[in-house]
Amino acid sequence: MAILVVGSVALDTIKTPTGKVEDAIGGSAIHFSAAASFFSPVRVVGVVGPDYPYKKIGFLKKRDVDLSGLETAEGETFRWSGEYTHDWNSAITHDTKLNVFKTFSPKISDSFRQSQFLFLANIDPTLQLQTLDQVEKPLLAAMDTMNFWIQGTKRAELLEVLKRVDLLLINDGEAKMLSKKNHLLDAAQAILQMGPQTLVIKKGEHGAVLFHKNEIFSLPAYPTKNIVDPTGAGDSFAGGFMGFLAKAGDLSQNNMRRAVVYGSVMASFMVTDFSCDRMRTLTAEDIAVRYKNFCELVRF
Ligand code: AMP
Repeated sequence: MAILVVGSVALDTIKTPTGKVEDAIGGSAIHFSAAASFFSPVRVVGVVGPDYPYKKIGFLKKRDVDLSGLETAEGETFRWSGEYTHDWNSAITHDTKLNVFKTFSPKISDSFRQSQFLFLANIDPTLQLQTLDQVEKPLLAAMDTMNFWIQGTKRAELLEVLKRVDLLLINDGEAKMLSKKNHLLDAAQAILQMGPQTLVIKKGEHGAVLFHKNEIFSLPAYPTKNIVDPTGAGDSFAGGFMGFLAKAGDLSQNNMRRAVVYGSVMASFMVTDFSCDRMRTLTAEDIAVRYKNFCELVRF
């Protein structure tokens, strides 16, 4: 089944202890699509400026990513710049330039409206609401967000989006910030009261926890050496997670757990190169081998 994703399409300037890139391909919708497209067809809705280097996302078209919903508007492409210092789990944002996203309003075409899987990637909650207003009720509506929107002036809209989705994927720091709780289980409980029935809290190098139907499933991260750039780890996790569920087509408890493993597998590849470069060369076989190794890692 196809996944509709609405999110940022960005040019990122990133510094990590291993190096620096300028105006690299990024944004939540692109990182998500790069991972999810290994499993299911993806439909992207977003906006770029005429300065966007389309050629660099040519690899997505070859993988059944429909970019017809990616508008080009007057102005510059969204830009984000950030840095990772000693802590690979959280980026220090230096600058966020919304540019073309300031005036953007998503238009979901008739052929995209009935997508069975919807991912509201990290973007202005107002745009997430506008998307929900246009789609037919999908089998699974999931969302992501970040500190920029939780702490800013958009909290009310964000709480509105939460009421209307089935699942939230969020990292541990942001879960605490959103819920105003210091302990992760308290945070999870508070967030589940806000609307979504299912919650995935990502803990960077410490793994991820799934809360679904009164059950908790906890998974470590795949032990990954040679981390180069964690940007997009969360989006690629969401891509593996949603991509697998859309491929499986059913949301059983076991599939939810497998989806957490696929999410972790995709994130473990993503962080080993800048931008989404690792996703360009990755193969379905690489994913299958790592999934098998992961099962072995947690078997006891
Ligand atoms: P993550 O998977 O959480 O590392 O997300 C990384 C991506 O989020 C980067 O490629 C950025 O372009 C994008 N990003 C950063 N800030 C924002 C924001 N305020 N809204 C939407 N996307 C953002």
